[in-house]
Amino acid sequence: MKNYDAKIEIDQLNGQSLENFHAVFGGSLVSGKDSDFDAVRQLWNKMIDKKPGLIAQCTGVHDVIQAVKFARNNNLKVAVRGAGHNVAGNASIDNGLMIDLSNMRTVMVDPKKKTAVVQGGANWGDVDRETQAFGLACAGGVVSDTGVGGLTLGGGLSWFRRKAGMSIDNLIGADVVLADGSYVHASDSENQDLFWAMKGGGGNFGIVTSFHFNLYELGPEVMMAACLYPRKEAEKAMRFWIDFTRDLPDEISSDCIHWAIPKHPAFPPELQGQRVTGLASMYFGSAQEGEKLLQPLREVATPLLDLSGIIPYTAVNKMFDPFLVKGTLNSYWKSLYVEDINEELMHLLINRANQAPTNQCLLSIRNLQGAISRVHEDMTAFGDRSGRFLVSIDTMWEDDADNDRCVEYTKEFFDEVHNYSNGQVYFNFNSDMSGSQDLAGDSFGSNYQKLKDIKAKYDPDNFFRINANIKPSK
Ligand SMILES: Cc1cc2nc3c(=O)[nH]c(=O)nc-3n(C[C@H](O)[C@H](O)[C@H](O)COP(=O)(O)OP(=O)(O)OC[C@H]3O[C@@H](n4cnc5c(N)ncnc54)[C@H](O)[C@@H]3O)c2cc1C
Repeated sequence: MKNYDAKIEIDQLNGQSLENFHAVFGGSLVSGKDSDFDAVRQLWNKMIDKKPGLIAQCTGVHDVIQAVKFARNNNLKVAVRGAGHNVAGNASIDNGLMIDLSNMRTVMVDPKKKTAVVQGGANWGDVDRETQAFGLACAGGVVSDTGVGGLTLGGGLSWFRRKAGMSIDNLIGADVVLADGSYVHASDSENQDLFWAMKGGGGNFGIVTSFHFNLYELGPEVMMAACLYPRKEAEKAMRFWIDFTRDLPDEISSDCIHWAIPKHPAFPPELQGQRVTGLASMYFGSAQEGEKLLQPLREVATPLLDLSGIIPYTAVNKMFDPFLVKGTLNSYWKSLYVEDINEELMHLLINRANQAPTNQCLLSIRNLQGAISRVHEDMTAFGDRSGRFLVSIDTMWEDDADNDRCVEYTKEFFDEVHNYSNGQVYFNFNSDMSGSQDLAGDSFGSNYQKLKDIKAKYDPDNFFRINANIKPSK
């Protein structure tokens, strides 16, 4: 196995090698010598401060292939960046080569077939804009600048997840540059093992230059309930919500959040900073029908703020944008699936939310099941889908001085929730793999060995390793 662990400074490469790369590469090559280096290397999580030796900003498949070959020929470690939202910072690397797809954002919709081909560096805002032009929607992220690449390869939870399943469940094909620089298509009829592995196995198997998705008719307007109750009503709101989500139609996807109203001009000054428990849901279908069905979520107690309404679907996926701006918040996230939330766990969640070290901390609990759990665990790499809820501890803060206490709070909270779960985490909401358990093993369950075998077939040297890494079987 080749050792890509060697720390190689790009500056130490022989000049000819870099020159040759420059000559064949279509996009920009950015290094520490360039004035825009800091802006280009910036990731979503402000806490990650990796400095790649070189950033290869690809313009298309050709550039991706050239970048892979350049890295291989020079034994460089690589990181692959989609939109750079991953909180673990897996899109970047110190000293090595960042293969940056963030300029590859074209979305091509086929309105007749109701499908889209989406380039590997597009974000969900790009997809929503282009698909909604035809009254269609793709099951993707709820913040518009989140990347299609990382989100899809890790699963993908949308505001209509219970109707459509995860993003991977709507993936019908992928164009992939493999670790040896070759280019293949993967689907249910070509390279089926690779296609299966990419549905939840993350960026382990290759660089996806285009994703092919099935789309749904939706919008342009949908009903969104977003009701914020004062934190003193947390118990009442949560108990109601847990019961509300017990027997829901697939058309309703629902979250319970514990947050503080941000210091932002969008909110009345007297409410800013107040801690709240929010009940948020989107209805997939007629907005009027949705308004009726979601009304109970707005009547649990007297809300501090009710932001509910019939709004464009594109606006639903921009609702959180102003408060989660790239490069503004240090972030340390951990997540776990739980089968159910009993009284004991509910109190734990509320007590911990009340102890949140900063007002930017978000505890979000997503109701799952519906179409998600109708896909058997061996159908995709993702693994077990039986969890009724996903608990995500999204700890965020502004001041570096708070780093230690915020990380410690998250780890302790995670360990407590772990007692109520089967140990499966959602890698897309995970800053690291710390903790006593083998998180990869726990999460992929019975799919783990098969994933290791497929990794050995497509990437025997573990060239793609800056991710939720699956080591190749020997
Ligand atoms: C503000 C915010 C909102 C979010 N909202 C949601 C949400 O609604 N639903 C949800 O499910 N998740 C959500 N997430 C989590 C999200 O799924 C992950 O952060 C995901 O990694 C983002 O993808 P990206 O392409 O931006 O990530 P990046 O940081 O660019 O990459 C993440 C990983 O994926 C790999 N990768 C990225 N693109 C490719 C590609 N084309 N080919 C091969 N490998 C690739 C990278 O190498 C890296 O290992 C959110 C995260 C944030 C910070």
